Amino acid sequence: MSNSNPNPNRSILHLGHPTLRKTAPIVPDPQTPQIQTLIDDLLTTLRSANGVGIAAPQVDESLQVMVIASRPTPRYPNAPTMEPIALINPRILDKSADLEKGWEGCLSIPEYRGFVPRHRSITVEYTDRHGTLQQTVFTDFVARIFQHEYDHFLGLVFLDRLESESDRVTAEQFKLMFPDTSNPDLRGLSGVEAQTQ
Ligand SMILES: [Zn+2]
Repeated sequence: MSNSNPNPNRSILHLGHPTLRKTAPIVPDPQTPQIQTLIDDLLTTLRSANGVGIAAPQVDESLQVMVIASRPTPRYPNAPTMEPIALINPRILDKSADLEKGWEGCLSIPEYRGFVPRHRSITVEYTDRHGTLQQTVFTDFVARIFQHEYDHFLGLVFLDRLESESDRVTAEQFKLMFPDTSNPDLRGLSGVEAQTQ
């Protein structure tokens, strides 16, 4: 296998593609070149879409691999700046009883934003890209990103988690509600939309 990867920036599936509705199987061996390349491609694709999280099914790879890349935003000023991390085969060990609603978008659903309830903290076990088992607690914005991406493994999207139809707005309406678009993350998880429209 060649080391060069001609197209690291993968195209992102949109809602309606059947892969987004499939249950993603676990990765048997995280250290294969195919999985390492997939992780690299997810990192590249996420960066170029200016998102904060992406799951492998979104690039038509039905596997339990996700990348989370949080950073502070005006809407989530306490969000940690983190090196992007890849999580393989994550398992939820525990979650807080309390739910918090927050705005989300999705690179696979550029037309809408939703006000989505999520657990405020969540304890996760996962395998990192080096094959090491890790355990961590995600809170607030990062917990939200994790739960959003984890749903992609279950064939779910944020629209499925809304409590009410009135919690779904168009991206256009969302910009009117939050006009300070100099802050791309006011637009939620999908970040800047230029790549997806
Ligand atoms: Zn998504």
